[in-house]
Amino acid sequence: MQLVDVHCHLEDERLYGRLDAVLRDARSAGVAKLLTCAVSPEQWPVSAEMPRCRPEIAFAWGIHPWFVKPEHSTALGRLREAREAGAKAIGEIGLDSKIEAPSMAMQTEFFEAQLGIANELELPVVIHCRGAFNELLASLRRIGTPSAGGMVHAFSGSAQLARDFAKLGLKFSLGRSLTYKRSKKREELMQFIYPDHFLLETDSPDMPPVGADPDTPNEPKNLVLNLRGAAALVGQREEDIARITTRNACALFGFEV
Ligand SMILES: [Zn+2]
Repeated sequence: MQLVDVHCHLEDERLYGRLDAVLRDARSAGVAKLLTCAVSPEQWPVSAEMPRCRPEIAFAWGIHPWFVKPEHSTALGRLREAREAGAKAIGEIGLDSKIEAPSMAMQTEFFEAQLGIANELELPVVIHCRGAFNELLASLRRIGTPSAGGMVHAFSGSAQLARDFAKLGLKFSLGRSLTYKRSKKREELMQFIYPDHFLLETDSPDMPPVGADPDTPNEPKNLVLNLRGAAALVGQREEDIARITTRNACALFGFEV
């Protein structure tokens, strides 16, 4: 079985310090490819270095809404070099209404600027969105989605919202929520997004799934727990979901596994 973790943060010190062990355990669990998403310009050089001796890692460059600040506006110029540096996507970028600062106005300015750069570079986008789906739809309609598409990670919206985003060319990755107790909302969402719009993620080192050790950082090896949750939700074999989500990830990010 070959799995792709389309969203993790290997630059995070909780994983970076013991990256070789993290990758070895991931490989044993069937994770053949990982997309690590930088969240601030300080991380970009670290991300870009990773695939050099670890070819299973691909990286994305972005400024996450939590790390948006005026001093980072000069970094947007450097983001234009993402493709040349080897990035497979622009992310993690997005909008988050559940934090007090930075303001939604400043988050929107940075999100739209980065979305515009993804459009220019024809790279897919990796989007974070909490409590701001309408604002996100408005920005995507205003700026446009990259020709390469993109995905909303840890998608928590309804099936109806997923339809709106899918019309704009986006796919959806889910992680820990797949291991929660079943809910009607998630079942309906899965009915719409599986198989063609569905991807698997861990968001390591955050969001440990139910069944993982809650006292240690989440790791890509735990992707199998999310896979198991997805299999139970859609009533399909794990092998089939693995094959389909890997195919979707390869199509979106240009991976080969
Ligand atoms: Zn993330």
